[in-house]
Amino acid sequence: MAKTTLKIEPVPAAERKPKPQDETSLGFGRIYSDHMFSAEWSEPKGWHNARVSKYGPIAMAPAALVLHYGQTVFEGLKAYRAAGGDINLFRPDKNIERLNNSARRLDMPPLEPELVSAAFEALLELDHEWVPRSQGASLYIRPTMIATEPYIGLKSSSTFLFFIITGPVGAYYPEGFNPVRIRVEERYSRAGPGGLGSVKTAANYAASLLAEKEAKKKGFTQVLWLDAAHRKYVEEVGSMNILFKIGERVITPPLGGTILPGVTRDSVIQLLKSWDVPVEERQLSIAEVIEAHAAGTLEEVFGCGTAAVIAPVGMLDYQGQGYQVREGKTGPLAQRLFDELIGIQYGRLPDRFRWLVRLQPGQKNASTPTVRTLAV
Ligand SMILES: *Cc1c(COP(=O)(O)O)cnc(C)c1O
Repeated sequence: MAKTTLKIEPVPAAERKPKPQDETSLGFGRIYSDHMFSAEWSEPKGWHNARVSKYGPIAMAPAALVLHYGQTVFEGLKAYRAAGGDINLFRPDKNIERLNNSARRLDMPPLEPELVSAAFEALLELDHEWVPRSQGASLYIRPTMIATEPYIGLKSSSTFLFFIITGPVGAYYPEGFNPVRIRVEERYSRAGPGGLGSVKTAANYAASLLAEKEAKKKGFTQVLWLDAAHRKYVEEVGSMNILFKIGERVITPPLGGTILPGVTRDSVIQLLKSWDVPVEERQLSIAEVIEAHAAGTLEEVFGCGTAAVIAPVGMLDYQGQGYQVREGKTGPLAQRLFDELIGIQYGRLPDRFRWLVRLQPGQKNASTPTVRTLAV
């Protein structure tokens, strides 16, 4: 098999962008680092022209398939700065695996995991100074694959572009680690059985925008989706999986194809099990949640995802009625999970599950163009 080469084209020092001075006001998703990774796919070459070069616009035909039919998938993960200066990636293998699962569902070509890992490493080597140093801030990494063939007949593309951009981020919600208000969505659906619910693809998010705007107008942070078939079972929140603590048990919807298999969800379940907290992955009706609230056993509700880590829910709105959870305050289990997760991610707590990939950037000379041959 032909070896893939990775071209590294560092941006000259004089052309690099100023880094944000104030790490407390980074927000989410507006600032991007100096470099990006890209690679192209076509038959019979497969993935080729892999390079790390200057972050900048992508040129493509207005007829490119992605712009019309949304053949695209993406991922989201973070790089965290440890106290000694090392950079930690949190379970990047899970993101690469999910990226390939998503690609398969959208009829797009899979990527060699080694190529994606090499891309992460090369980007972090060049842009390591973009990884924030303050607690709570991190470097968000966004891998994306798009269909580039110029053809507006409906079919799968014969050419693709894969790129990775990165940028420093702070808290995902303006509330920070404070309870959010969530509205149970009754009018719109996110994903149906056999659809795209378990895939990180643009269509799911496009389908959610109007519901989220309407919820925001009424003062809610996000919506909680119910299953599309019955409007009965809870599924997930915009970009987070959701968990409910009812009595002693933590209940979260199962991975049945309509919700996203979150890396954070998986990590939270492993942590809970290691603490002997009973966890149930099962269908949970909104009626059961409301009953638990009435019975006083709805102890905690929280979302989890890479962007927000853990987001306690202080208020649920269903059928026009507000249900306060824990008097709108963060519960002890949400707090413990948050502390444990960020403790591991920033390298302050033992990495008991071997979740971290540790990088020590700044070792290589990052100013001269080079070509690397990868073992794939
Ligand atoms: C990304 C995402 C999540 C969370 O996944 P993580 O891997 O934990 O970041 C949950 N739900 C949806 C819809 C998502 O897009």
